[in-house]
Amino acid sequence: MTKKIARKKTTAAAAKTRAKSKPTRPTRTEAEAAIRTLIEWMGEDPAREGLRDTPRRVIKAFDEYCAGYDMNPADVLAKTFSETGGYDGPVLVKCIEFESRCEHHMAPFIGKAHVAYIPNGRIIGLSKIARLVDIYARRLQTQERLTSEITAALQKHLKPKGVAVMLEAEHFCMKVRGVHKDHSITVTSRFTGTYQKDDDLREEFFAQVRG
Ligand SMILES: [Zn+2]
Repeated sequence: MTKKIARKKTTAAAAKTRAKSKPTRPTRTEAEAAIRTLIEWMGEDPAREGLRDTPRRVIKAFDEYCAGYDMNPADVLAKTFSETGGYDGPVLVKCIEFESRCEHHMAPFIGKAHVAYIPNGRIIGLSKIARLVDIYARRLQTQERLTSEITAALQKHLKPKGVAVMLEAEHFCMKVRGVHKDHSITVTSRFTGTYQKDDDLREEFFAQVRG
């Protein structure tokens, strides 16, 4: 009797843990079946020639759209260099193209990221900055959070004197649905450290981005 109660408690605890943890990930076959359901919901015939292979292709495309979930920013930013030759000015990588998906409609938003930092004795490979943008862009996102996550990761792992990040993007959920505004561009920016405190430095960043 005592044993039974104990087991019951354990099961309840396990259920609680399960409820808190992430839902189990469906299989690829289940994901493809979901796309087939969507095709049927549109009133289409998923068995016709042109659509027969579409669920497989869509899920394969989603492998790319969501590739960022399997990548860790810490790995990309792990290697830094101390040989700066005394350089302590801003390092700006601008016009980094990115493609992301809005988490509200799963529609693409596409644009450019401008990322700058002031070294604090260490620098990082420039391509790593572009890869960092991709890691966070290839997830379901809002532009606001994408801006914050790039800024925070660079600040946390490189520990520079300051970080400036600006994103400009066109949101397809505004272009092809809803308000249908084809030419609107959303601009977000985030600053840390010296960029937050120093107005001139921030102005220089904006001027370099515009130039
Ligand atoms: Zn949206």
